[in-house]
Amino acid sequence: MADLDLAEAPGVIFLDHPAGCRVHRVGLVEPHGVGANWTAVGGRTNGRPRLSTSPEKDLGFPYASDGYGPLATEVNARMQQFSWTRYLVSRGEYATWVDSGRPSPRHSTWAGYLRWAADQMDFSLVRGLVCGLEIVGGRWEVTGEAGVAGDEARLYLDQLMISGPGPHDGLLSGDATRSVEEFWRLGLDTEVAEPSVAVVGGGETAATIVEYLMHQHAGPTTVISPQPVVYSRGEGYFENALYSSPERWRELSEKDRRDVIARTDRGVFSPRAIESITTDARVEHRQGTVVSLARVDGQTELVLSNPGRPDRVPRFDVVIDATGARPDWFLDLFGTVARKAVYRAVGDTTDGVRALERRIGEDLALDGISPRLLLPTLAGYEQGPGFANLSSLGLLSDRVLGSTHRGKADAAAPRRGASVPGPAGRAGRREMAAFDGLDHAAASAAMLRGGEV
Ligand SMILES: Cc1cc2nc3c(=O)[nH]c(=O)nc-3n(C[C@H](O)[C@H](O)[C@H](O)COP(=O)(O)OP(=O)(O)OC[C@H]3O[C@@H](n4cnc5c(N)ncnc54)[C@H](O)[C@@H]3O)c2cc1C
Repeated sequence: MADLDLAEAPGVIFLDHPAGCRVHRVGLVEPHGVGANWTAVGGRTNGRPRLSTSPEKDLGFPYASDGYGPLATEVNARMQQFSWTRYLVSRGEYATWVDSGRPSPRHSTWAGYLRWAADQMDFSLVRGLVCGLEIVGGRWEVTGEAGVAGDEARLYLDQLMISGPGPHDGLLSGDATRSVEEFWRLGLDTEVAEPSVAVVGGGETAATIVEYLMHQHAGPTTVISPQPVVYSRGEGYFENALYSSPERWRELSEKDRRDVIARTDRGVFSPRAIESITTDARVEHRQGTVVSLARVDGQTELVLSNPGRPDRVPRFDVVIDATGARPDWFLDLFGTVARKAVYRAVGDTTDGVRALERRIGEDLALDGISPRLLLPTLAGYEQGPGFANLSSLGLLSDRVLGSTHRGKADAAAPRRGASVPGPAGRAGRREMAAFDGLDHAAASAAMLRGGEV
């Protein structure tokens, strides 16, 4: 195979196309397998609720790769091998799906789609829970726990991507509330016949729980969030277009960008969720930020604060904490050197997550830190609102792999003799955590056995 270095396609170097290409070697470090958080094992759903975005926003969407020079058309065509419609066709379900009005798939079906796509890709799945991330000798050291014995293993990687929303516990975790994971595992778990339930949070996690409760629960349900109403996004053309092609995004002011995200992504219910919830008089909304809570007479009492108004103190039989973890949850896993590197990159600031968000570059990596640290879940503010969710996964992988940052691309360039996954290996990057320098077989074996790679 000829060794063609296509400098015009930095980050991803294709060799002797179309027989194969060299790309980053990718490994996914994950305790439960591909798509886990869309199934019961992930603790964020029981698999029955439906996706709120269209499944056609799939692994390759928007199929508009243009950073690969003459290979762009081929990349787009090959990505279609991993499309949602290709998945349905492979199962003989495409016509039924179209004829029934293109319904949103259940979460478990979406997980099935991701697994189907992953089965066709060449990457390594390292089973384990990451419990430590450190920079050692210019590389990322990933410490994982695997197996019931909790054996530790270490991987050494040239680049690291963090995905996911972090731990299950929200901001209110404690004895007086039920975590999202507990809710999906145990249900309401109370002896009260028709318990009053409060779901604290205004985002997709809360929406999914409320929708589910409507079908399973006869008592009253109250959504609690700081906003004056439960907002829903419009999902009109102009909103959607900003997600699919965020070229205009960086022209917007900071205030406008945060405004768009607040109206269309964070803390809003999907139109489908709103439509089904508002048909039920047992669901109401109360405005407020929960500032304290306690168990009183077998119920949970919440103190709800609203600026300029007296506090309110409602009680509920069950309170579900759907507030979500801190967006920078992963810093808790960082060792001293990695932590210092992040603080150096963001500068002396008290702006917390916002400071991190402002430093996310076009390649979705944190600027100013080496080795490369990819943070797509924090890229919404600086690079485009679709990078923090399922709205533009194809664009996400293009940005990461087709980086136009020459310096970063050089640092990320695959080694000679690396494995050759083919263009297939470009898909599914939202699932993937660790890049390059990963000896697949050794890594998997070491993680399972508890050794070093
Ligand atoms: C109920 C619900 C419904 C949603 N519906 C939509 C929707 O319809 N459309 C949309 O765009 N977005 C939706 N979202 C947001 C959605 O989570 C993201 O868009 C998308 O799934 C994020 O992908 P991800 O790969 O970053 O995270 P996830 O899909 O959450 O994957 C993170 C993975 O990391 C693993 N993990 C966690 N901690 C560790 C660790 N320490 N070590 C190793 N592995 C670890 C988990 O097991 C998990 O598999 C929804 C979220 C929820 C909670």
